[in-house]
Amino acid sequence: MDMEEMSQRILAGERRALARAITLVESGRADHRAQATALLEHLRGHGREALRIGLSGTPGVGKSTFIEAFGCLLTGQGLKVAVLAVDPSSARSGGSILGDKTRMERLARDPNAFIRPSPSQSQLGGVARRTREAIDLCEAAGFDAVLIETVGVGQSETMVAEMADLFLLLLAPAGGDELQGVKRGIMEMADILLVNKADGDLKSTAIRTCADYAGALRLLRKRPQDPQGFPKAMTVSAVEQSGLEQAWGEMQALADWRREHGHFTQRRAAQARYWFEAEVREAILARLKREPVKGAMTALAGQVEDGHLSPAAAADQLMREYLMM
Ligand code: GDP
Repeated sequence: MDMEEMSQRILAGERRALARAITLVESGRADHRAQATALLEHLRGHGREALRIGLSGTPGVGKSTFIEAFGCLLTGQGLKVAVLAVDPSSARSGGSILGDKTRMERLARDPNAFIRPSPSQSQLGGVARRTREAIDLCEAAGFDAVLIETVGVGQSETMVAEMADLFLLLLAPAGGDELQGVKRGIMEMADILLVNKADGDLKSTAIRTCADYAGALRLLRKRPQDPQGFPKAMTVSAVEQSGLEQAWGEMQALADWRREHGHFTQRRAAQARYWFEAEVREAILARLKREPVKGAMTALAGQVEDGHLSPAAAADQLMREYLMM
């Protein structure tokens, strides 16, 4: 298919074209990669801006319940919502979050929503690029909000935070001890902590947990990209759909403030730079694993082992001969 035409269809908001384009960026085939790169170039500068919202949380905390309720709230306001998933485990297990469509039945049926599960077979290194490009495609297709869901298992939060305008962390009501379990680094990345399941028997625990997190947040260093009162902790109930409008209000207030103060575009620019540098690193690493560099490295490693060359001299030689550095 012609990429110029495909880009026109995406800009016209055609869902089938969007779905096909995402399949293209997910593909590992070299010819598909070239097409995907061409497509993204055609789409550059379309001038549309979606609010990119990253959402992380441990399994069972209520991510899909929350996304369904929150997504429906937004579509109810006439907004178009895309949901993407980053599943760091799928490369290993072949499983996929959002894969089970029944998890978000109501949102999946909504004509203003687009849900894309993470592909079940994926190469780890490609996850970040694929997700970034899928976000770009959804933005070009005219979505107002793009939600990027990830399971909280370390690396993936950093990755999602580096592609999102706002980062939400969904938490469960818990005793004081478990609060310690949230890594400081992850707390520092979050813009809003949402303590979910603030309903029924869990409500009072949720309120207490929220106060604990709010206290912990106050101890963090103030970030220049935050207005007064951020990052903040709030309670929600995805099941009862309470607190969601307030949470959305806070997200908009934060995004508006950052837009007004230049932090919004600054953050996107810094992210673009971050991903450029990541792509360069990956490209260099990929070259090391391919011939002729791979063979040269093996040979030089032998000389290092024998004591004929020092590790530094051998590395220098490799860089000069193969990487032109
Ligand atoms: P995920 O693994 O993070 O996507 O979590 P799910 O959305 O699948 O939810 C895990 C469990 O928590 C399910 O049994 C949900 O019904 C329940 N759950 C999700 N949100 C809430 C909530 O707001 N209140 C209560 N009481 N249970 C919830």
